[in-house]
Amino acid sequence: MSTESTLRADIVEVGRRMYARGYTASNDGNISVRLGADRLLMTPKSVCKGFMTPEMMCITDLEGKKLQGERDPSSEMLMHLEVYRQRADVQAVVHAHPPTATGFAVAGIPLDRAVLAEVLTTLGSIPIAAYATPSTRELPEAVRQYIKAHDGMLLANHGALTVGGDLYSAYYKMETVEHFAKISLVARLLGRENLISRQEVERLQGLRGTYGIKAPAPICADDAAESSSDDPARCQVVQAPSSPGSRLVPDSAPPARDRAAGPAAAGEEIRLTYAELSALIEDAIRNLG
Ligand SMILES: [Zn+2]
Repeated sequence: MSTESTLRADIVEVGRRMYARGYTASNDGNISVRLGADRLLMTPKSVCKGFMTPEMMCITDLEGKKLQGERDPSSEMLMHLEVYRQRADVQAVVHAHPPTATGFAVAGIPLDRAVLAEVLTTLGSIPIAAYATPSTRELPEAVRQYIKAHDGMLLANHGALTVGGDLYSAYYKMETVEHFAKISLVARLLGRENLISRQEVERLQGLRGTYGIKAPAPICADDAAESSSDDPARCQVVQAPSSPGSRLVPDSAPPARDRAAGPAAAGEEIRLTYAELSALIEDAIRNLG
């Protein structure tokens, strides 16, 4: 069991790393850890996470009442409290705005495709919690939808949230989320994203025990993935096509450059340059003759 002074120092160090890596700007982000059974140690409101000192931290109870500290606790405290309420196994919560992952959160694109074995074994899929006004009671509501089944999620038009069995584990998951987002972005810019087959995904899930990784929830069966109820998620939706005998499934979508040049579907808007339009008209006139 870590002592309080060690945990204070760890929060300072994790805050410094988040700021140094550009996961937060200005006073963004917040960090908390469990301090025994009924208290939390939390970053204070309105401080830059890159320049914190151990004595700045607040101690609260599990209802959010401040027990110790000169400053007020984080403005996102309600979101942290909800995570600890829903997940007895979670010891630490990290929230930041890493730019690439937050870009996916702004675009409304979840990081749920089966493309990286490491991510599938550690985090599984990374969904997007619905947009909620920061620091209001809406945000814990949005997080509740996914927190039982996920250790990492994007927050729509806001940022990312990760949790773990200790502070460094929660922080490293934030690194994984941002790293995964960067790799996904590059693959999509390159125009091709081969997927890991569902059979291989299931095999990777089975290996979690070998690596000592505790997953919050299994990957949903195909049919469960289709349901979109308001109930909190109990399993993880992963985009992994079934392809018995294959570990990788080639991207079925044509590369972006081919799509641009390929025939447009009926009713689809297309854009032409003036020269292209002129050439088409000249061609049509020639064919008339
Ligand atoms: Zn935030």
